[in-house]
Amino acid sequence: MSIVQYIKKRNFNDTPEPSERSSKAVAKKVLTFVIQRHQASHLHYDFRLEMEGVLKSWAVPKGPSLNPNDKRLAMMVEDHPYDYGSFEGEIPKGNYGAGVVEIWDKGTYEHISIKDPVEGNKQLLKDLKSGSVKIVMKGKKLKGEFALVKMKGDKPSNSWLLIKHNDQYATQDTYNSEDHTPANSPVTKANASKKKVQ
Ligand code: MN
Repeated sequence: MSIVQYIKKRNFNDTPEPSERSSKAVAKKVLTFVIQRHQASHLHYDFRLEMEGVLKSWAVPKGPSLNPNDKRLAMMVEDHPYDYGSFEGEIPKGNYGAGVVEIWDKGTYEHISIKDPVEGNKQLLKDLKSGSVKIVMKGKKLKGEFALVKMKGDKPSNSWLLIKHNDQYATQDTYNSEDHTPANSPVTKANASKKKVQ
């Protein structure tokens, strides 16, 4: 899969984000995921699932939820290189997505019924095309079954919904991902010092 769009949007002389050269196809024993909390012009969470050696990516403005009643808007964005999964840091002013990025959660995941990562990966790519991706997440914060469902409309759309399935890891309580972020996290600290300056 191609990270052409990812590369086009960035100047690697000016941003510490991983470049094409550091991207690689990975020998597969597991599929990984990462969720990055990103204070760009707006705070959002980047939800990334490894498929075919790249990270399929969605920007989730409100962050993920463990409450199955929440349908969190997830805008599909360009594929990111595999190495982006370990990126944290500051994207300098003037660059695409300028601001601070931190890892909010990471771990492995599987197709909901196909545990083998190679076969699971194949099915996930089909699911992605059909607009319904169902997975089991094994993170520190996000656990259990989740669905990503593409919103139907007349026009082609990048809008999906991220929904927790009802299982042992689901909660019926209000879930705000911001409450599950350490107070001294890099993004929170950067935002606090910005407020002081203003
Ligand atoms: Mn982002």
